[in-house]
Amino acid sequence: PMSLSDPVKPHRLCVCVRKRPLNKKELAKKEIDVVTIPGNGALLLHEPKQKVDLTKYLENQTFHFDYSFDEDATNDLVYRFTAKPLVKTIFEGGMATCFAYGQTGSGKTHTMGGDFSGKSQNSSKGIYALAAQDVFTLLKQKRYADMDLCPYVTFFEIYNGKVFDLLNKKAKLRVLEDEKQQVNVVGLQEVPVSSVDDVIKMIEKGSACRTSGQTFANASSSRSHAVLQVILRQRNFLYGKFSLVDLAGNERGTDVSNNDRHTIVETAEINRSLLALKECIRSLGQNSEHIPFRMSKLTQVLRDSFIGENSRTCMIAMISPGMGSCEYTLNTLRYANRVK
Ligand code: ADP
Ligand code: MG
Repeated sequence: PMSLSDPVKPHRLCVCVRKRPLNKKELAKKEIDVVTIPGNGALLLHEPKQKVDLTKYLENQTFHFDYSFDEDATNDLVYRFTAKPLVKTIFEGGMATCFAYGQTGSGKTHTMGGDFSGKSQNSSKGIYALAAQDVFTLLKQKRYADMDLCPYVTFFEIYNGKVFDLLNKKAKLRVLEDEKQQVNVVGLQEVPVSSVDDVIKMIEKGSACRTSGQTFANASSSRSHAVLQVILRQRNFLYGKFSLVDLAGNERGTDVSNNDRHTIVETAEINRSLLALKECIRSLGQNSEHIPFRMSKLTQVLRDSFIGENSRTCMIAMISPGMGSCEYTLNTLRYANRVK
């Protein structure tokens, strides 16, 4: 299916798209797959053969991205072209960031987290575990082994503009900025790790906390941003940081049946933070001096990701293939297109 050569040196910004397969529910509903990935890095949203009343959204729009992954792509393949080239960045003292963007159900958590029960094969691992694996491989290499680098993990959630520590019973944390504009999440647990298994344990611990920690359990996980960071410290000083971000679902509040005040506030906050993110990534891509990171808690906490010569960012925009999702799919593609 895909004939992609191995990625070259990463640019500061890489924007990709991943399409998931139609799921059982969509197949049962005889949903039409409206997304085509020709395999040359372009992506086409085509008009379905059957007559449907949503065609106004599907005017054969074509978008171009650095890489586009179709429904046959494994997590392993997606990882190889997105986050993997960024691992070296943190060994060179830089900041690397990988975002999973898209509507709820489009595959963000599948791509980032994968199957974390998995001592199973690579294909079921997500970007979290695959990146951790490569970090430990590099740590053992001769050229890095003598550098006295110590790896740590943090895992937190940003919900309604507030930060919660997923590795410490969802403790609510304060974010402070000092006079040098350094942003500090006060009291965030930084857990030392010495193997991939240690990291996977932390992913499991934090993920469990993410979905079961609140009364409105299922909904809340898709309404928050989850940030897993692999941090390298050299003699206690921050050396490099890899932030892997599973963003809140980008859908608007319109389809939420429960359109109460709480939901409206929540949605407004998500929209605000995703808009801020777009602005910050755009500034990064344009090597702009001014990064508007104070626009939201998400971008404030990720400030390090947007500054410095050695920052590299990758965004993977996840899309559902179904006709029923095409409005969201178009929104996602437009956002990703705008970020480039
Ligand atoms: P999100 O985190 O964006 O809300 P999920 O990652 O939870 O979405 O995905 C929704 C469902 O679709 C899950 O059951 C997941 O396993 C499945 N899924 C997502 N992406 C893929 C894919 N590329 N291949 C197979 N199944 C997928
Ligand atoms: Mg999810």
